[in-house]
Amino acid sequence: MKFSHESIIKYICIIRIHVFGIKLVTDSIQHDVVIIGSGLAGLRAAIAAAAYGKGDTSIGVFSKVQVMRSHSVSAEGGTAAVLFEDEGDNIESHIYDTIKGSDFLADQDVAERLVKTIPHEIYQLDHWGMPWSRRKDGRIGQRKFGGYSFPRATYAQDKVGFYEMQTLYDTCQKYDNINFYNEWYCTSILKENNLFRGLTAIEMKNGNFVKIKAPAGIICTGGAGRIYSFSTYAYSSTPDGIDMAYRAGLAMKDMEFVQFHPTGILPSGILITEGARGEGGYLINNQNERFMKKYAPEKLELAPRDVVSRSMIREIQEGKGFKHESGYDCLKLDLTHLGDEKIKEKLSGIREIGIKFSGIDVIEAPIEIRPVCHYMMGGIHTDFDGKTELGGLWAAGEAACNSTHGANRLGANSTSECIVWGRMTGEQAAQFALDRKGSTIEISHDQVLAEEKRIFDGIFRGRGQVNPYEVRKELTDTMDDKAYVFRTEETLVSGLKRIRELKALTWKHVDDKSKEYNTNFTNVMEIDAMLRTAEVVLMGAINRKESRGAHARIDYSNRDDINFLKHTLAYYNSEDEPRLTWHPVTFTRYAPVERKY
Ligand SMILES: Cc1cc2nc3c(=O)[nH]c(=O)nc-3n(C[C@H](O)[C@H](O)[C@H](O)COP(=O)(O)OP(=O)(O)OC[C@H]3O[C@@H](n4cnc5c(N)ncnc54)[C@H](O)[C@@H]3O)c2cc1C
Repeated sequence: MKFSHESIIKYICIIRIHVFGIKLVTDSIQHDVVIIGSGLAGLRAAIAAAAYGKGDTSIGVFSKVQVMRSHSVSAEGGTAAVLFEDEGDNIESHIYDTIKGSDFLADQDVAERLVKTIPHEIYQLDHWGMPWSRRKDGRIGQRKFGGYSFPRATYAQDKVGFYEMQTLYDTCQKYDNINFYNEWYCTSILKENNLFRGLTAIEMKNGNFVKIKAPAGIICTGGAGRIYSFSTYAYSSTPDGIDMAYRAGLAMKDMEFVQFHPTGILPSGILITEGARGEGGYLINNQNERFMKKYAPEKLELAPRDVVSRSMIREIQEGKGFKHESGYDCLKLDLTHLGDEKIKEKLSGIREIGIKFSGIDVIEAPIEIRPVCHYMMGGIHTDFDGKTELGGLWAAGEAACNSTHGANRLGANSTSECIVWGRMTGEQAAQFALDRKGSTIEISHDQVLAEEKRIFDGIFRGRGQVNPYEVRKELTDTMDDKAYVFRTEETLVSGLKRIRELKALTWKHVDDKSKEYNTNFTNVMEIDAMLRTAEVVLMGAINRKESRGAHARIDYSNRDDINFLKHTLAYYNSEDEPRLTWHPVTFTRYAPVERKY
């Protein structure tokens, strides 16, 4: 009896279903555009792609969590845009603030595109029902934010992300051609001849392994901030999407630039928005001194985050910090002078956070805070349009690095970036797919089998003594300890050594063998991605022997434009060291100068 290749695969699958209780599906789902991630970038991309083809495109949005659990819902302070040119703000100033904030590592054409495009998107959201906070004269409200020359963080109380997400999700409901796949965990990109062909994913409710075909894809999987323990991010903010691209041969760019937000509360790390300082809150040390006047005499607490976080650590090092009961040194954010009414109207969310998670009502007392991992300037290397190095694949939002933010992002510019590139990549992906409408998408079985082997043989049925959750904790603690606000060769090298030791342990195994909602399995896949990403962050940081933006080296304390005014690219090199190389920064008309605030 002769077996075809196809029937052998099916036979193997049936045996596996029988033996291991896992259902491997050889059938596949197909869409014109697949989007991984349902945060701000993913939802904006879905609407753009759905609208572009006048209903002719079919869009699949895959998310490992329910839509409204994406990290974007927790954005608090605002979305930056120039809305009041009649009152003195201007586009040029927002572009320059962004580039100066980036310590001149932003691609200047990209920053310009962000700033010129976002005002329209703010009004678009308004037309879709976004409940922006309003001024007394009825116009959309804007507040001060760090590093800007004009109040331009467009806000909705202190819950901007929640309202933006709800507005976009509501708008998605108008399109019959958007299909949501909530609680689907995507594992890898499929490609043929340097063209994107689709994805593999696990449908979490039943454990099925599914092949998803599409001519065009957009990665919108958010930031990787959970590679740190002290972090403002949702627990789901792991670098799965960035790592998928990396394993597929695409570069991670500028990963050494990790933003530490000045005001994470203790002990959890939950964020107190910069909007609190935008509304007039200030930082104090144990002498009750507003210490920022020493470091940024003009902007004070509203200097960019890298500057404020470094100043806070210096105060602590000089013995001017407070000791929190958790053992951590910290400083305090004082909002008491803002008064009950203003706090309840504009900062009700952070008041609730303070009461519930720190036991402090900010109306009554200053709250303990310290710099906390908050944003990844780096991500999947894309061009000006958000296009990756793989044909048919784009990336948008925090998972992408189109180089808007360079070495340091200004607050409120990230939600702007998600919305602007969400829309742009959605439209481009839809056009790409429409141009190929009707053509067959071939995916070799070998590729799907290789992925199946990687996750089911390598992880699900893996063996080992070491508890993967202990590895995760060690990994994130190592990053806190070795790659925080200030770095040195010694801390970074010892951090890298530790990450590699962890990688080499026998931790890749899943004890829970159930099919439904096996979060043990997805957690272990997340840890796998976290280890590779942490390695790239540390190697990039070791390699960049200068201080620029959020990357502050004590042993190379100056910015070095002669040798390092360039982006870092890291390429996957099987399980060996990543291959690092450089990529030029795009300049238009702004020459680098020393940053003063
Ligand atoms: C607490 C907090 C407050 C913030 N406040 C502001 C602010 O006021 N203004 C501002 O501009 N920026 C702010 N930021 C930053 C900004 O909110 C984020 O950068 C932005 O929301 C990221 O959106 P995103 O669409 O890229 O991804 P996210 O919203 O992070 O969504 C990621 C999506 O990817 C999906 N996903 C990930 N991995 C997989 C996988 N393996 N399979 C399937 N799906 C997957 C997730 O399910 C999720 O849907 C804040 C960030 C935090 C953490």
